[in-house]
Amino acid sequence: MNEWAVTLQDADDETLSLTLAQAHVPALMAAMMHITGSTEHLRGAVRPAVIPLAEEEDGLTEDQRSEARTLALQLLRNYRDAGCPPLTAPDDAMVEEAMAYITGTPLPAEQQVYMREELNLFGEDRRRVAIPAANVPASFRVLIIGAGMSGILAAVRLREAGIPFLMVEKNPEIGGTWYENTYPGCQVDSANHLYNYSFAPEHQWPGHFSAQPELFNYFRRVVQSHELEQNLQLDTAVREARFDEQENEWVVTMQTGDGGTCEESFAVVISGCGQLNSPALPDIPGAENFAGMSFHSARWEHQHDLKGKRVAVIGTGCSATQFVPAIADLPGQLHVFQRSAAWLLPAEDYRQPMSDEELWCFRNIPYYARWYRFFLFRARGNDGLLPFLLGEEGWQGHPASVGPANAELRAAMEDYIREQCGDDSALADALIPTYPPGGKRPVLDDGKWIEALRRPGVNLITEPIQRIEAGGIRTTDGQLHECDILIYGTGFSADKFLHTMKVTGRDGRDLHEQWRGNPTAYLGATIPGFPNFYCLYGPNTNIVVGSSIIFFSECSMRYIMGCLKLQFEEALNTLEVKADVCEQYNRDIDELSRLRAWGSPHVDSWYKNAAGRVTQNWPGTHWEWWQRTKAPVPEDFVRE
Ligand code: NAP
Repeated sequence: MNEWAVTLQDADDETLSLTLAQAHVPALMAAMMHITGSTEHLRGAVRPAVIPLAEEEDGLTEDQRSEARTLALQLLRNYRDAGCPPLTAPDDAMVEEAMAYITGTPLPAEQQVYMREELNLFGEDRRRVAIPAANVPASFRVLIIGAGMSGILAAVRLREAGIPFLMVEKNPEIGGTWYENTYPGCQVDSANHLYNYSFAPEHQWPGHFSAQPELFNYFRRVVQSHELEQNLQLDTAVREARFDEQENEWVVTMQTGDGGTCEESFAVVISGCGQLNSPALPDIPGAENFAGMSFHSARWEHQHDLKGKRVAVIGTGCSATQFVPAIADLPGQLHVFQRSAAWLLPAEDYRQPMSDEELWCFRNIPYYARWYRFFLFRARGNDGLLPFLLGEEGWQGHPASVGPANAELRAAMEDYIREQCGDDSALADALIPTYPPGGKRPVLDDGKWIEALRRPGVNLITEPIQRIEAGGIRTTDGQLHECDILIYGTGFSADKFLHTMKVTGRDGRDLHEQWRGNPTAYLGATIPGFPNFYCLYGPNTNIVVGSSIIFFSECSMRYIMGCLKLQFEEALNTLEVKADVCEQYNRDIDELSRLRAWGSPHVDSWYKNAAGRVTQNWPGTHWEWWQRTKAPVPEDFVRE
């Protein structure tokens, strides 16, 4: 009997029917292939069609969904009544047909491998890089800095390959972002069934975009199930890493929880520090004079009771738009200070729990969960919106757009905001951004943000802040907005990669002096002058729209594992990217960024450094990222 059969055998017709009424139709239809051993049912009239900006995500009408569910019910009943026989393994052609069916988009032949890898239908884990144990030199040891999403991923891959490592984490717990951000309403803003490791898929998420504790617990489970604790040292912050050219190793100084320091050497260092871990406190005059309580959203001080208080929030980005709706009922008065409005991207299920029926489908319908994840990757995750963020040279259209498709997106998003504001056109005017959509990361929205702003006692203040005083915030119109508690929802110093440590490479060169506020790397991972040193979620690896950042980190880690494999195969002491390769690469991505909405000179954001260069984002497609990072090109490196 197969793993799915137990519950399916006990499910009566009524249960099946009620459950399927909530099933995701494209995933359900694709999954039926496994029990029928055929793709015949995918060739009927009901065909999903994912079209960016369309109202119905799967392109189906309610009648079509109902027709598909009736068919699936019949197929599931037949399967159950036949005693749940062993599943038929689909051949490649069937899988390809289902991959194309699920979003109605034919798959370009060259993308079959890429898509099949992401689908990971049978847990093949094709992003894993196998390294023969005999190739790993004796006493070779890797240091991973940070035990957040990327660091844990690195640890899993090194463990699988049998490469010794130590993972250090500055906090007393693992989790990184998912440990530090505990503000009310904190939840993931990528679809949760996609925001988890491809090799450790989780299907029982309680929400479509689950809350922070769920994410934190997931990463804990991965640490436990891969037995990473034995290589993990908490409360340990790297202060300095220096490359010893005699020994070809990194000498790392670490500060431990007791305030002491220790020094250890490693053959390779992998930074999993990421981009969004240093809270940014704005340089507003007088902030130090504020007499009340103040804290940053990523350092939420839960001991303060907001009930009945006068609370001010500075910032209206992804964090504030999550915590303001969660706290809006508590304060007597809530002032929300907006410097720039955020574009809102409709996501009806943003705060919706998964129903019992949906969770049942993930558990009990063979391969349904895999196909659902794949649907998310293709429909929401991939590059569907990217064409709408592309600029056109000499564009003369709406000044806050970068090209015709971007202007179309702008109009649709503006309508969405106006619709929500109803007859309050002044509020709508205030909430419509003056920069092109995609200039900054859009905020996922289910209506709760504007609803919160319209609650009694909540004021949206767009007048610029002049200074902070003991009693509150004074705006440039002279008005003092009194408050007892001030919450900074002001984001992170994203371009200050690795700024909490000194990194010294070849010839004594200092990483931060080399960068001078302009962090660059080759494929976000390797830096000339810094042999055997790698970054995950490094410069220009962030996404504005698209899939989860876990996809990007998994691709990066495969690349880094490829570098280690190359180092072992060629018995190299060091692997160091060539300076001209890195420079050309950065020239290429700068050229691409120039014609992306976030590269527009009219946008100022954390994606850019002080000089206005985009240092955070990957400007290409997911497919291009996957191709570029599949394996290192030996000629890109000085190999010694
Ligand atoms: P953010 O997007 O950088 O937003 C910061 C906000 O503070 C912006 O509205 C900004 O205004 C405002 N601000 C900054 N300095 C200011 C000043 N001096 N005066 C007035 N306003 C000021 O930061 P975030 O909301 O923390 O989000 C950062 C990133 O973290 C997101 O893009 C997302 O990638 C990630 N994130 C993810 C999740 C999730 O998955 N759960 C949740 C939150 C955040 P301007 O726009 O004018 O600069």
